[in-house]
Amino acid sequence: MRCPNCNGKDIGKIGSQQYYCWNCFIEMSVINNKLTIHQVEADGSLSSLNDLFSEDERTFYGNP
Ligand SMILES: [Zn+2]
Repeated sequence: MRCPNCNGKDIGKIGSQQYYCWNCFIEMSVINNKLTIHQVEADGSLSSLNDLFSEDERTFYGNP
């Protein structure tokens, strides 16, 4: 699994379907084989980055 934002491989698993990129500090959730991508703001809130990625980029292929 690579980060769709920075293409990095420094992905940590933070939940059963949740991953975190330590390189660009985004959180990814896998829902129905689609990635939902959020950026964690400085105050701890989440803002969606889904609009920045195409449907294809957010489709989750295979196992991480
Ligand atoms: Zn990243």
